[in-house]
Amino acid sequence: MQNSQISHEIFKGSELEEIVDRVIKSQDTKLDDVIFLLESPEIQRLGLIGNNIRENMYGNRVSFINNIILNYTNVCVTYCKFCAFYRPPGHEESYTVSKNEILDRIVFAKAKYNIKQVLFQGGHNPKLNTEYFEDIFKSIKRKCPDVAIHGLSASEIDMISKVDRCSSREVLERLHFAGLESLPGAGAEILVDEVKDIISPLKISSQRWLDIMDIAHSLGIRSSATMMYGTVETIEQRARHILKIADLQKKTGGFMAFIPWSFEPNNTEIQESGTVQYAMGGFELLKMISVSRIIFKGIIDHLQSSWLTNGIGMAQLAIYHGSDDFGGTLIGEEVVSATGARSTELLAKNIINSVKAMGYVPVERNNNYDIIKYY
Ligand code: SF4
Repeated sequence: MQNSQISHEIFKGSELEEIVDRVIKSQDTKLDDVIFLLESPEIQRLGLIGNNIRENMYGNRVSFINNIILNYTNVCVTYCKFCAFYRPPGHEESYTVSKNEILDRIVFAKAKYNIKQVLFQGGHNPKLNTEYFEDIFKSIKRKCPDVAIHGLSASEIDMISKVDRCSSREVLERLHFAGLESLPGAGAEILVDEVKDIISPLKISSQRWLDIMDIAHSLGIRSSATMMYGTVETIEQRARHILKIADLQKKTGGFMAFIPWSFEPNNTEIQESGTVQYAMGGFELLKMISVSRIIFKGIIDHLQSSWLTNGIGMAQLAIYHGSDDFGGTLIGEEVVSATGARSTELLAKNIINSVKAMGYVPVERNNNYDIIKYY
């Protein structure tokens, strides 16, 4: 059955019918339509549409990847107000993981969990240059050639280029050659500078984030795109973020997945200042998943559920609202852990069991979202 037919059945008589139909059929979504969907309280109807699109694309399969996350340094000079993870240079709790320790952790995780990816992310550490990452990436590829390096957000690439006083293109070319396969979408937050000026004034601008992704895609380095919602942004600013991602994707085709995730305020400056006290919760998450699936239909293939900040129960519900991927097992995660949010380690068997409990088929994927195993 076609999506447009389904949308008619589910939405007959609803004020959403016309807009959902228009968005699903159009490749050129209007800002007002995105705002309308994001403001709609009809999460069940939106969820049925999102789930229907997912089923048409992936049937009863739900994917995940066995991975380790390596938060290689918490030293950072960018002081984002939403971040509980960073420590300034010289702080007694600051750390940078040594190369030997990095290799040991990856080799251990490969042997014990058969990981297919290392997610490599850290602070903006002014002591770490391109050569440092080249050396580590080459060593990882020598020891574990089949573990993909998915690492360094656009803002980390920007920081490395500043340390070396060179272009981000040069950094990306060198690190790609050293083994960097893809970039995570972190550092985007909301791609509207009025929001960034409040929550992360020292971080790269929205346009710089998009430009670095554009360059990476042109070099064959694919990436994820994220959205961190629930700080100070308006619905319109969320809608602008979504459309900026869609526009770049239409140009490059380099985004493999979109990952909307909810801001976790504990232990952050934003919470201490009283700006945001609480996370937005499940209602908003499910709506974000459904609306993202509807808008990115035919544009970005994969939509990850945000189990890291919302927990496994919400991640299951997100599948029913249009998400097709559970993300990674994220062994060793420290950034979200710093906020005290829920368990941040999920072993593959937990994901497999929770997908099976929904009546779906768990599939393990690699870094490129190719299926490598059915469970
Ligand atoms: S979010 Fe990243 S860039 Fe911002 S303070 Fe935290 S570690 Fe630094």
